[in-house]
Amino acid sequence: MRFSHTFIPTLKESPAEAEVISHKLLLRAGMIRKLTSGLYTYLPLGLKALNKVATIVREEMDRAGFLEVLFPMVQPGDLWKETGRWEHYGKELLRFVDRNGRDYCLGPTHEEVVTDLVRGEARSYRDLPLRLYQMQTKFRDEIRPRFGLMRGREFLMKDGYSFDIDVDAAKQSYQTMYDCYTRIFTRLGLRFRAVEADTGSIGGNFSHEFMVLADSGEDTICYCDKCSYAANVERAQVVGCQEIAHTPCPPLECVDTPKQHTVAEVAAFLHAKPSQVIKTMLFRCDTEVVAVLVRGDHAVNPIKLGHLLHATSVELADQACVESVTHAPLGFAGPVGLSLPIYADQSLANGSDYIVGANAQDRHMMHVDLARDVTITAFADLRTITEDDPCPLCGGCIHLTRGIEVGHIFMLGTKYSDAMHADVLNEEGKETTMIMGCYGIGISRTVAAAIEQNHDDKGMLFPWAIAPYRCILLNLDVRKQDVTSVCEDLYQRLCDQGIDILYDDRDERAGVKFKDADLLGIPAQLIVGAKGLKNGTIEAVNRKTGEKTSLALASFDQDFAAFWQSVARSWGDGRES
Ligand code: ATP
Ligand code: MG
Repeated sequence: MRFSHTFIPTLKESPAEAEVISHKLLLRAGMIRKLTSGLYTYLPLGLKALNKVATIVREEMDRAGFLEVLFPMVQPGDLWKETGRWEHYGKELLRFVDRNGRDYCLGPTHEEVVTDLVRGEARSYRDLPLRLYQMQTKFRDEIRPRFGLMRGREFLMKDGYSFDIDVDAAKQSYQTMYDCYTRIFTRLGLRFRAVEADTGSIGGNFSHEFMVLADSGEDTICYCDKCSYAANVERAQVVGCQEIAHTPCPPLECVDTPKQHTVAEVAAFLHAKPSQVIKTMLFRCDTEVVAVLVRGDHAVNPIKLGHLLHATSVELADQACVESVTHAPLGFAGPVGLSLPIYADQSLANGSDYIVGANAQDRHMMHVDLARDVTITAFADLRTITEDDPCPLCGGCIHLTRGIEVGHIFMLGTKYSDAMHADVLNEEGKETTMIMGCYGIGISRTVAAAIEQNHDDKGMLFPWAIAPYRCILLNLDVRKQDVTSVCEDLYQRLCDQGIDILYDDRDERAGVKFKDADLLGIPAQLIVGAKGLKNGTIEAVNRKTGEKTSLALASFDQDFAAFWQSVARSWGDGRES
């Protein structure tokens, strides 16, 4: 492709609205443009990268035996009412009414729609397994669309669904997808990890997320340095909290703590450790308000709280609620005398002599013994795992790192097939509910994640498999006939070899061309200028290593082949993980 014929409007500066590197670079490289909040247009270069990811995903889904279909994006509300998600999905589901007054929504995911299809078609165990997928634009009215393609409102997803006769067969479908996703992200050349995950609003029995490892990731994942355990911290179980002997403590004492707000401040003021301070946090779980207690150096895990209380929505109580329940300003809540259900993290079960808020401004209570002074509704695992906790499987050391969720697979069980009566006849001729799995990959988020993981201060360093072009040819003197004719000849030869090449034939300064070539992150750069041609050579640069080689025109095919091989090798070439 000639640069002058395509549409790559690069920018010198990052637009102010972009916070993360992938968003900045996608805008600067002229790959995407914002239409409005959470909605982006893909320009030719962006679409090329997107399609490269989509192609690999398609190839591997097909190889795994899934069949591609395409469902409507608009879905009837009635189907969502059958599963109860019309009420429960929350505001991310964009609902609307048609001219006849019927409810509809824009598809954020397609479990209802695929189940409706399959219940109408599959009659018996002979029709199973049925494994379908589609590649489609999804719409979720995200509360905070941000980071460009990372969290859009409209985004491209591959979503797959499996229907099986029993749990064993469903587990096979799940494993097939686990292996398929591992191949996909390996081929894409990304450093990633599959982790145990929470099932969220999709529901089901268990799930794994595929995380691209990057410091900018919104998710924290933990992994064991001894065994294969890896999980999203939302999900990771905390076990083996040290058995602390319960020691009697002095009577309760209320003390002044003027202007001491944070755990660290209160602890320092009272000459205690942060682990002796208890944080009391109020949550609204569906309609009920509850208090949750964790040690000052721990964090409440709202997802675990939701599971404990079987609540679909768990939100931190707002200021008005806290003030009306505790009769004190925000920051002084404490469990003594609080008339609410109180749930405490299990690590507090035996300890004593704690410091808590006194439900009064600038006051705290010392020498709190939970068994003596507070009525605890239940102790449970309610906090987020830390690097001080042991691996829940083997007791090894836990490490934390950041990741970007690019894929998510779920063992759904019968959540949807039960609600929607998706039954078939089994071998004995008895009606049986199909077991489902569902499997998503954020195609557009994967492009962004690839950039988050692979860039330098000059621009993108796309993995070999995703790079929109693999070679860029820079003509530094377009007005010089001899330079241009060499470029034209090389361009033709490389196109004929099937190399995905971008020819920068613009009438621009050399500096602009170098900057753009680096920004676009195309692995191989060929630089043709009058100076080199005098010696019958052109310059070849590996964008990642910066390594420069001189290629002789007289033996171009040979020299180029060696250069190309070395670039492909240093780029991982998509064959290694
Ligand atoms: P998140 O926790 O990031 O909101 P999710 O759990 O809601 O993700 P799923 O419902 O499992 O996501 O969707 C499947 C995949 O779609 C995700 O793994 C992710 O790659 C992608 N995805 C989800 N929401 C968005 C979004 N707002 N923008 C871009 N991609 C998204
Ligand atoms: Mg989400």
